[in-house]
Amino acid sequence: MKAKLIEKFVSIYGEGGEIRSFFSPGRVNLIGEHTDYNGGHVFPCALSIGTYMIVRKREDRTIRFYSENFSKLGVIETSLDDLVYSEKAGWTNYPKGVMWAMEGRGYKIPTGMDILIYGTIPNGSGLSSSASLEVLTGLAVRDLFGFEGISMIDLALIGQYSENNFNGCNCGIMDQFAVAMGKKDHAIFLDTSDLSYEYASVKLENAKIVITNSKVKHSLVDSAYNDRRNECETALKELQTVVDIKGLGDLSEEEFEKYKDAIKDPVRQKRAHHAVYENQRTIQAVAALNAGDVEKFGKLMNASHVSLRDDYEVSCEEIDVLVDLAWETEGVIGSRITGGGFGGCTVSIVKNDAVDHFIDKLGKAYKEKTGHEAEFYVVEIGDGAKEI
Ligand code: ADP
Ligand code: MG
Repeated sequence: MKAKLIEKFVSIYGEGGEIRSFFSPGRVNLIGEHTDYNGGHVFPCALSIGTYMIVRKREDRTIRFYSENFSKLGVIETSLDDLVYSEKAGWTNYPKGVMWAMEGRGYKIPTGMDILIYGTIPNGSGLSSSASLEVLTGLAVRDLFGFEGISMIDLALIGQYSENNFNGCNCGIMDQFAVAMGKKDHAIFLDTSDLSYEYASVKLENAKIVITNSKVKHSLVDSAYNDRRNECETALKELQTVVDIKGLGDLSEEEFEKYKDAIKDPVRQKRAHHAVYENQRTIQAVAALNAGDVEKFGKLMNASHVSLRDDYEVSCEEIDVLVDLAWETEGVIGSRITGGGFGGCTVSIVKNDAVDHFIDKLGKAYKEKTGHEAEFYVVEIGDGAKEI
């Protein structure tokens, strides 16, 4: 892959100079959904699919971008003196935002760059191609210019900061953290209230992680995401009038039941119910996995889906079709929606000898019921972003 991309780079930008190559993964969250902005736990892992960058310094302040995934747009040119968001900059707003955020932290980028990007993550499907591109950019700029004192966790925070403040998406820290800190065959048990984390082995002997892409994305996704955040914030404020907590993730199930009447609106109460119970489920799920109880882990994944469907209301018809089909398929240990919701992907744990049947059955039945062609990825858990 690297050699082919370098060839392409040279055909676009010409020979010479020192050409360097970086890779940054996508991620899938196994359990702990919509908890990362509620001070709760998440359990994502980095994938072996991801985004590549081939890059070379320039002598002037010009930055040239080209993405093989957006090849129709050709080379997009900008300058270090023009790190501002613009509609017409399209996808380059992501790398520009990261450079802007680094400069804002005092890391003045001395020269421009020629950049080629190629990604193997389906865009906009909840596998975090945007976070992958952000961490990739941060890593490449850090290493190209020898910026010392920026850790991988800092790169995650820089990516999140730029997505929040440059690209206007109010995401939590999970995606960038998973992409930056991923570890082969492990998922990251991250406490988003203080960024403490532990790796847990997800080397499943008898099962595979199968991601199913519904290929639908309902336009509700951004507005609903912001609504949920606001609902949780209001619920937290109401709870804080009766109990001393910093986030919904601070509450046990029992405490929530005791204090929940402080939340005046029943819809808001459901949202908070999800945030609290999902956090506790995530803690239990990781304990189950560490104890070798994959079946229990799967059951908690299923319960996570029910909560996201009924209490948090971020699923949709197509996703529910996929999850229902998975649940009734022999050899499926657990299955749930993953990512922000309203389309995108499901994640399932499927016994090795059932994977082929799973893909065949769900593919056909999903097409029949919804008219859409699902895509399946049997994924490996890979490392975080690195030079290749
Ligand atoms: P997700 O992060 O779930 O994949 P987003 O909508 O947050 O979806 O991010 C997708 C956007 O990120 C794309 O529309 C594009 O702007 C940018 N992006 C991701 N991967 C690439 C790539 N390989 N080349 C160029 N832009 C990319
Ligand atoms: Mg994204």
